[in-house]
Amino acid sequence: MYSEKTMDKVFRSLTLRLAFWYALVFVVSSSAMFFGVYLMLARGVQERIERMLLSEAVELQSLYHSRGVGKIGAEFDREAEIDGTHRIFFRLLASDGKELVASDMRTWQDVSISRSALAQLATQDAVFESEAVLGQRHNARVLYAKAGKEHVLQIGYLPLDDERFLKEYRRGTTLMLLVGLIVVGSLGWLIVKRAMARVEGVTETAMSISQGDFTRRVAVTNKGDEIDRLAIMFNTMLDRTHTLITDLKEVTSNIAHDLRSPLTRIRGIAETTLSGEETIAPYREMAAIVVEESDRLVGIINTMLQIAEADSGIASVAITNVDLARLVHDAHTVFHPIAEDKGITLEMAVPAIPLIIVGESAQLQRVVANLLDNALKWTPAGGTIYLSAQGDVFHAKLSVVDTGLGIAEEDLPHIFDRFYRGDRSRSTPGNGLGLSLAQAFVRAHGGTITAESLPGKGSTFIVRLPRPSSPHSLCIVKK
Ligand code: ADP
Repeated sequence: MYSEKTMDKVFRSLTLRLAFWYALVFVVSSSAMFFGVYLMLARGVQERIERMLLSEAVELQSLYHSRGVGKIGAEFDREAEIDGTHRIFFRLLASDGKELVASDMRTWQDVSISRSALAQLATQDAVFESEAVLGQRHNARVLYAKAGKEHVLQIGYLPLDDERFLKEYRRGTTLMLLVGLIVVGSLGWLIVKRAMARVEGVTETAMSISQGDFTRRVAVTNKGDEIDRLAIMFNTMLDRTHTLITDLKEVTSNIAHDLRSPLTRIRGIAETTLSGEETIAPYREMAAIVVEESDRLVGIINTMLQIAEADSGIASVAITNVDLARLVHDAHTVFHPIAEDKGITLEMAVPAIPLIIVGESAQLQRVVANLLDNALKWTPAGGTIYLSAQGDVFHAKLSVVDTGLGIAEEDLPHIFDRFYRGDRSRSTPGNGLGLSLAQAFVRAHGGTITAESLPGKGSTFIVRLPRPSSPHSLCIVKK
C-alpha cells in the first residue's frame, strides 16, 4: 500500500500534471475532430436521403399526372416492395389530410399526418419532417410533396443502413479515443518522466551538496537544451560557491595563524616584563613593542578587509577616468628619493600623452606602490628598477622590472596567495598580503597581473588593464 505522503507526492509531481494535460489536450482535440466529422457525415446522410425521397416524389408525381389516382396505388405497392415495406411507405392524401391510397402500412401504424407540413405546402413544393416510429430506435424521414392541385404525396423512409453506419462510426471513434487516451497518456508520462529525470538529477545533486559533498556536479548532455543550460548554470554556481568556501577556509586559517604570532609576541613580552624587575624601563620597552605589534595586527586586518571587499565586489568605488601616465609619473616622484637612499636607480618610461583608463585612482596607486615597494625591497644597492606605462586602443600595460634577487621557481606560483612569503622573506618586514591586494585591485578593474623572474637576475611584474574602448572595460564597473 502506498502511504498518503507518497500519493500526495505523486499528485503534486509535475510529471503527472504534464502527462495529464498532454492526455487532456489529446482527448479534447480528437473529440472535437471526430465530432466535426460525425456531424458532416450525418448531414451528408440526411441530404442523400432527402434527394432520394425527392426523386421518388418526382417520379410518382409524373405517374399521378399521366395515369391518375386510380393507378397510383399499384405503383405504391410495387415501389415499397422493392425497398421493403418496413423501410419505406407511400401515401396519397387529400388536401385536408385524409388518406386516399397507401402502400403496406402495417409497420407504420403510428406515423401521423402532420397538419403543419400540409399547411406549409401552401407556400412550398416539398416539406420534410422527422417522425418517431413505433418499435424503431431511429426516426423516419417523411416527405410531403404536392400532387396536382388537390392531393399530397407522403413518403416515409427509415434509414436503417445509414444509422447502422453512423452507429459504427460512433463506436469506432469512442474506442479509438479510449485506446488513444491510454497510449498518449502513457507515452506522455514516459516522455515527461525522461525529461524530468534530468531535472531530478539537478535536485539530487543539490541535495548531496546540502549534505556537504561539494565535489558533485550535474551531468550535462550535449543537447544544449534548457535543462543543459540549467545544469551548466548550476555547475558554474557550484564552482563559484566552492571557490568562495575554499577561499574562506583558507583565509580563516591564515588569519588565525598570522594573528597568532603578533598576539603571542605581545603576550610573551608582557609576561617576561611582569616577572622581571620592577623598574620603568622594561615597561616602556614592552609598551613600545605592544604598539608596534598592534599596528601590525591592525595593518593585516585592514588589508584583509580591502582584499575581501575588492574580491566580493562589495566596495562601492569612486570610478573615474584615470591617467595612468600621470599616475606612474607621480609614483616615480614619490619613490625616487627612497631608491636614491638605497643606491638604486629608478628609471621611468611613460607616453607624453595621457593614457586614460576607467577605474579607481587610489586602488591603482596602491598597486604601483606595492610593486615598487617589493622591487626596492629585493634589489640590492647598485641595481636598477624600470617603471613604465604604455598602451594600445584596448589595453594599458604597466610594468615594474627590477634587477634584484629574483623569485625562486617554487615560490613563483604562490606569490599572489594571501600571506605567502618566500623563504628568504622571513627576515624582512612584510605580511605576505602586498601582492594579494594588488591582484584583488587589478582583478576588480577587469585586468590581470603576472610575474616572471630569473632567480639572481631580477623580476618583472606586468599589469594589464582594459581601456574604455575595450569591450572588457565594462567589467570594471564594479559590483
Ligand atoms: P611581502 O612583501 O609582505 O612578503 P608580498 O605579497 O608583497 O608580501 O610578496 C610575496 C612574496 O613574493 C614576497 O615574500 C617575496 O618572496 C616575493 N616577491 C615579491 N616581489 C618580489 C620582487 N620584486 N623580487 C623578489 N621577490 C619578490
